[in-house]
Amino acid sequence: MDLFEKNIFWDRLLKGIEERVNVQSFTTWFKPLVLKELTKDTLVISVPQPYFSSWLEEHYLPLITSVSRSILGYDIAILFSFSDSLEDKESPPQTFPEENNPREATYRSALKNDTAFLDQLNLNSRFTFDTFVVGHSNQFAYAAAKAVAEAPGNTAFNPLVMYGGVGLGKTHILQAIAHHYLNSVKAQKGMNRVIYVSSEKFTMDFILSIQNKLASQYSKYYRTANLLLIDDIQFFNNKERTQEEFFHIFNDLHQKGKQIVLTMDCPPAQLKGLADRLINRFQWGLVTDIQPPDFETRIAILQKKALNDGVNLDPSIAEYIAEHITSNIRELEGSLIRLLAYSSLHGQDLSLDMAVTILGDTIRKPSKLITIEYIQKMVSEHFSISPNMIIGESRHKEIAAARHIAIYLCKQLTSSSLKTIGLHFGGRDHSTVIHSISFTKNKIVSDPAFSKQVHTLIEKAKNPDY
Ligand code: ADP
Ligand code: MG
Repeated sequence: MDLFEKNIFWDRLLKGIEERVNVQSFTTWFKPLVLKELTKDTLVISVPQPYFSSWLEEHYLPLITSVSRSILGYDIAILFSFSDSLEDKESPPQTFPEENNPREATYRSALKNDTAFLDQLNLNSRFTFDTFVVGHSNQFAYAAAKAVAEAPGNTAFNPLVMYGGVGLGKTHILQAIAHHYLNSVKAQKGMNRVIYVSSEKFTMDFILSIQNKLASQYSKYYRTANLLLIDDIQFFNNKERTQEEFFHIFNDLHQKGKQIVLTMDCPPAQLKGLADRLINRFQWGLVTDIQPPDFETRIAILQKKALNDGVNLDPSIAEYIAEHITSNIRELEGSLIRLLAYSSLHGQDLSLDMAVTILGDTIRKPSKLITIEYIQKMVSEHFSISPNMIIGESRHKEIAAARHIAIYLCKQLTSSSLKTIGLHFGGRDHSTVIHSISFTKNKIVSDPAFSKQVHTLIEKAKNPDY
């Protein structure tokens, strides 16, 4: 089946399903699906969240099977697959005969014909600038990404490096650059060689190209990019040959004024297992971070997502989710999807009560596990002072600062009352506890470095392996 036929099949499948389920179920469960692969006997569907697979299997497999049968006239196996960026992460065959090597064909046609490769980009159509909510936490990265997408290679941001924690929108914004550029006038004039790739895929392709004696085509392919976007560079760690190959590609493109954009999970200087000369180059252009979203941005993201799914989200529900899920936008979206799913399945309207019941378990989990003693221990280790000093009377600046943070974290992460918290901190009274909390809150707002430190501690508390 060629690409055209596959797309027709997929369209008809979705239309057939749309006719048979209610609107909300369709928007929640089927709209986000993407056709990944269709062969004579198998249909592989990409799902946007891991739990879609089990949900679809449990609730909708017979329906998908029967609609698919009505189109094809026979039964095929239906599989669901989750991968982060919708990129093909299946392990490719170890080696293949030269003459029908699909990668070779890909490189050849890509080199011959600029447009041929666009199909291979594997972009998630949802990850555009339009769907990206801008707030304090990401406005700088957003502005830089937009500038680069408008005039790749013609800004001072080469390379543009964006870093941030898991689920904060790095992949989204990186792919938005590709979408924007591909839709722009320049791309239509044939300067459209955009390559978007995860660092894992880059590595895998590089290894395969060596095994299959295609290293020079591989390198040439990357060197003809106008815009090279590589996601999650930290996974180059300890892969020396890949790093070396990338180093040469980087130099070549940079010298020719071609745009390079990279994402990573920490500032370049903190990358482990990467060659100094690479880290050095990452700092040539602009390095910008993406911070966890503040409360207002979290609300805006939820509202926008709901609107996209055709749902009017009551502010009290948005606030409930945004108050409790603070550090990962993927989880924020996941909670909303779970709610929509529940409401669609049970035919009930969304309500705050429903949100509390459905999300309560996940949301309350951290406070069950995190104790005041644990926070005191963690904060004292972080600042290299003893827990006794944090609890004690010292007014030494550093110790008092650590104490304020510890008290703030106890309020945020445990369900203990102010009185209980005070008792655990050497019998301090309620107003002293309040003072520590508001002092820390104010500093979080006014001092980004401090805010980051507190955020790191929160992550650490929630996830001891952090
Ligand atoms: P990362 O690559 O940093 O781990 P992703 O880019 O995959 O994170 O983002 C996780 C999810 O959160 C995606 O579904 C993405 O669309 C969404 N998301 C992240 N940031 C934003 C934002 N600012 N506005 C809207 N959605 C966002
Ligand atoms: Mg990512």
